[in-house]
Order: sequence, then structure tokens, then C-alpha cells
Amino acid sequence: RKNTFCVHCHHVLILSETSQFGGNAPLVRELGQRQRLNEEVLPFSAFLTDNFGRRHSYLRISLTEKCNLRCQYCMPEEGVKLTPRSQLLSTSEVLTVAQLFVREGVEKIRLTGGEPLIRPDVLDIITELRKLEGLKTIAVTTNGMNLARLLPKLKEAGLDLLNISLDTLVPAKFEFIVRRKGFHKVMEGIDKAIEMGYNPVKVNCVVMRGLNEDELLDFVALTEKKPLEVRFIEYMPFDGNKWNFKKMVSYQEMLDRIRQQWPSLEQLPLGKTDTAKTFKVPGFQGQVGFITSMSDQFCGSCNRLRITADGNLKVCLFGNTEVSLRDVLRSGASDQELLDIIGAAVGRKKKQHAGMFSISQMKNRPMILIGG
Ligand code: SAM
Ligand code: SF4
Repeated sequence: RKNTFCVHCHHVLILSETSQFGGNAPLVRELGQRQRLNEEVLPFSAFLTDNFGRRHSYLRISLTEKCNLRCQYCMPEEGVKLTPRSQLLSTSEVLTVAQLFVREGVEKIRLTGGEPLIRPDVLDIITELRKLEGLKTIAVTTNGMNLARLLPKLKEAGLDLLNISLDTLVPAKFEFIVRRKGFHKVMEGIDKAIEMGYNPVKVNCVVMRGLNEDELLDFVALTEKKPLEVRFIEYMPFDGNKWNFKKMVSYQEMLDRIRQQWPSLEQLPLGKTDTAKTFKVPGFQGQVGFITSMSDQFCGSCNRLRITADGNLKVCLFGNTEVSLRDVLRSGASDQELLDIIGAAVGRKKKQHAGMFSISQMKNRPMILIGG
């Protein structure tokens, strides 16, 4: 079986080996379905549409495997083996790939890592991304360590959205979780982002039992006076992060605890591809969100694709199948050949991840090498 794509409209053409279409009813149905799903609303590239009709308009690019912190839930204690620099995507390769995806319909790019703000060309990359017609949103996920210093330049280059990671409001605990100092720098980065008009500033907080689940209410209280969206993330298993079921605090448990303090907490409408379920305490400036990847997966509305710093396309955070775009790029392939490979990988995307117990057993990269 072989998928190809119409070079004019980028609708998918699924060809069976037995006959063009006639001999293989399931394939014909799949073809019809993918095309119908694309025609229901505005046309969208079939390369980026999967067999379940999900349109992938959001690309996360990891800019580096390096980091200036060593978060327990992300980095194995012994560190990770870094890919040699020559095997990471260069500035121009990042931009070539981004351009191709945007041409096919990607509207949002998030730069992540490792710590994206330690990559020396991050400002150049954002400046060039800003020029791409059709790209509506450029976002960065950062640990905030270099943020206060870089933010004016990031904003000038065209950065639209910021997620800053912070798992505790207690400086000593911060040092324990991230195995480095720097709490005040992160807080300074958050305040600077608010001062510069980012609204909401999203704060990512991975909740772990016995570590920071006692700070849930303090984090919610932070949204009273600040236009923050604190996003509580269920602790996810990746290679080397010592995940276990007991350490994970589920969305429902977090919600119940917060509701005991603020019974009036109200849920906000859910956007079609939103991953966070968001809530607000009436009268508070900010809001809170929950990323429920473990207890209530949102695979059905997933519109994300990921590119690792070494240039692999990963269609699911919890899937270990990857395809190297770097190698294809470096072989001198045309855009069309690259698109064929991307389209085939998207076509193989599974309906949903295997569930929390299976993914905790599965071999995957550590989070730092994926790009969150
Ligand atoms: N260094 C940047 C940062 O920390 O924001 C960007 C990369 S980091 C891998 C992206 C996000 O993934 C962070 O918000 C981090 O908290 C989250 N993350 C990492 N490991 C995780 C895990 N095991 N479970 C849930 N979230 C995790
Ligand atoms: Fe670094 Fe971000 Fe991973 Fe922490 S979560 S180790 S800051 S990449």
C-alpha cells in the first residue's frame, strides 16, 4: 500500500497494490473519509491530515537538547547523552522545515527544548519565522532563567506567547526539583512578561505527590492579582524520570482540592484543540488550567506534531516512532519528497496513546530529548 498526494490540491490519494481503488474497499473508505473531512470546512493539506481527520496545524520544534536546569521529572539523574552538534538541525534547516510546514497549513509554532533560550540563534530564528506568511502564532516554552534579560528582544523579534515552567513557590524546593539555583530569576522573568503585556502568561507546573501537591492552592492564589494562567500538568512517564502511578496527582484530585477552597471555581469554554481544561475563580485576574494527558487524554483533538533537535518528526509525544527529516534534507531531497515522508508519517499516527500504564512501560526518549 502506498499513499501519494495530488500535487495541486494536496488531497491524499491512497493507492492499493491490488488495484487503483476498486479492489480495496477499506482504503477507498479511508480515502473518502480523509477527503471529506478536509472538505467539510476550509481546505487543508492532506499531508498534515491523519486518518482520523485531525488537522495538524501546530508544530513544536525543539531547538536544543541542552538545558541550564536538571528537572527531576525531565532529565535522568545521570544526565543524557547529547547528540553531536553536527547532527542537530542548523538554523537554516530549522527554517526550511518550518517554512514547509507553514506552507502546508501550520499556523502555530512553539519553540521548546531542552531550554530554547540558551540557543544562540533563537532571536534570528524568531525573526525569520515572523516573516512566514500564514504563521499566526510564535510561542516559546522556557524555564525562565534567561527570560527577564532576553524578553525585550524576543518581543521585538515577534514572540507572541510564553509558557514559563515553575513547579514551586518555595526557593529551597525549587533547587531540589530542578537541581540548580535560580528561583528568583524565574520569578523575575514571569513579572517581566506581565509587565511587557503578555496576557495571559502561562505558568507550567508539573504536580508530583509528596513534592509540590501541597502548593496547589498557593499557585491558584497567585492568579488573584496577576494575569497568569497557571497550568497544572499531570506528571508523565518518560525514560529515566522514575515515574510511578502513586506520584501522579490526577486532574480530578487537584480540582476537588481547589474546589474545597474556592467552591465558585467556574469552568471556561473548551476550544476545539485546547489541551488545557481551564477554570477561573470569579473576580481573579488570571485563571488555572489542567493538562490531563494521563487521566483524561485529549488525543481525539490533537493537532500537534513535534520535531526533535536532531531533526526527527514525532507524530505523538507518547509514541516512539520517528522519522528523520534531517537525513532527508541532507540527502538533497526536494520539498515534494520531504512532504511525501511527512505525509506518510502523519498517516501512520495512531488514534490515541496506549494509556498511562502502557506508556510507563514503553521505551521513549527522556522528555529533555523530545521537546515538551
Ligand atoms: N526547558 C523548557 C521548560 O522547562 O519550560 C522547555 C522544555 S520542557 C521539556 C517543556 C515542558 O515539559 C515543561 O513545562 C516541563 O515542565 C514539562 N515536562 C517535562 N517533563 C515532564 C513530565 N515528566 N511530565 C509532565 N510535564 C513534563
Ligand atoms: Fe530543562 Fe525544561 Fe527539562 Fe527542566 S523541564 S530539565 S528546564 S528542559
